[in-house]
Amino acid sequence: MRRKHRVDIDFAVKAGEQIISDAGLQICMAEGCFDRGTHPAPKNRQELRSHIWFCLNHIRMFNSQWNYYDGLEGEALEREIRRATTWERPSWKFGTGPSPKMANYGPFEDKFSFFDEPETKTHIADQNLTAEEKKAYALMELEPCADEKAIKQKYKALVKELHPDHNRSDPTAEDRLKEINLAYAVLRKTAKGR
Ligand SMILES: [Zn+2]
Repeated sequence: MRRKHRVDIDFAVKAGEQIISDAGLQICMAEGCFDRGTHPAPKNRQELRSHIWFCLNHIRMFNSQWNYYDGLEGEALEREIRRATTWERPSWKFGTGPSPKMANYGPFEDKFSFFDEPETKTHIADQNLTAEEKKAYALMELEPCADEKAIKQKYKALVKELHPDHNRSDPTAEDRLKEINLAYAVLRKTAKGR
């Protein structure tokens, strides 16, 4: 069953480019709102690198509506995950908070970590795992030595466990599932490269 796309936003977004006040500050891009835009959001699915700014209220609405992977299944989902992990869009990290260069914008909810920089490789004693790979293993509750088959099995179990249809009362399950999807894409590549 295909789930409904929910990438549209309930409130209207002002047309055109990001509005900047006379004082050089971003203004919230929600129609009718003139608060300061303190929170960045991707412009749209095709332009993840360019962003517009919302006030706290509107970024919350945006986040609750924006569901990058929703409605995507099978091939399309795989394609998006590949895209997400081949640096066609900025890297993601797991809940690591704002990147230093954004910190001066104050409170920042980078729910999907679109604006983090790619990780640099850190070498560990006997394994050349990147920090990202280590996080992915931890996130999927796998030992770093898990093979491709074990990774796949664990992934299937987690997807089942965290499926939104089974977690209607737990909105965090869906976010966790998104992280799992990305972690899986990383680990699958890692395991294949062994
Ligand atoms: Zn606003």
